[in-house]
Amino acid sequence: ATFAEIGLGDGLKKNIRRCNYVKPTPIQRHAIPIAVAGRDLMACAQTGSGKTAAFCFPIISGVLKDPSLVSGGGDGGGRGGSAAVACPLALILAPTRELSCQIFEEAKKFAYMTGVKISVAYGGTPIYQQLRSLEKGVDILVATPGRLVDMIERARVSLGMIKYLALDEADRMLDMGFEPQIRKIVEQMDMPPPGTRQTMLFSATFPDDIQRLASDFLSDYIFLAV
Ligand code: AMP
Repeated sequence: ATFAEIGLGDGLKKNIRRCNYVKPTPIQRHAIPIAVAGRDLMACAQTGSGKTAAFCFPIISGVLKDPSLVSGGGDGGGRGGSAAVACPLALILAPTRELSCQIFEEAKKFAYMTGVKISVAYGGTPIYQQLRSLEKGVDILVATPGRLVDMIERARVSLGMIKYLALDEADRMLDMGFEPQIRKIVEQMDMPPPGTRQTMLFSATFPDDIQRLASDFLSDYIFLAV
């Protein structure tokens, strides 16, 4: 199968070629069509499997079709709310600064010249620069749980518009003790009508606490182990 055959649009396909991705990896071949079709997904994926693209491609593809894309919105101040409150359409949660930066760098390449705005937020560094970047408008936010909770509490990020949620290395996030933050974050995403949010959970292992997270956050999901 090619990337065209698994349901991705032209702008994205050009960027995939630019990244020298010739054909999808197994996780991409299976996950992308499911996600592009709008289904929730729990996927078993190791580092190096190509999991980043497996959740980024469907998210970028969905955001590009959204009428409230920041760059197409006209006012440049973000959708809804005031310029001071960022309202992303998609959220990617990752356990560490390193992983969130890696996802951010890849996502920027995949979204090159599409107009999709991507920002990153992680802890251990002053918050102000990250807040300033959010003020320019953001469609896709890549974040670690602790820093995102901080931004929500400062009322600088609203998750009320989130349509796509990806949790990367979910088992590692739980091992690091982020479960309360993750639950708090997901509680903010009650977009009516219920079930309009699409959620993708990626994890290398599936202990009980991950299964519980999946049954709490995903609806009618497909389990993928490749
Ligand atoms: P990941 O598992 O997402 O960390 O990806 C591992 C590495 O494989 C990264 O350097 C990606 O850029 C690369 N990669 C992902 N998908 C493909 C693909 N379809 N073809 C070639 N390289 C890929």
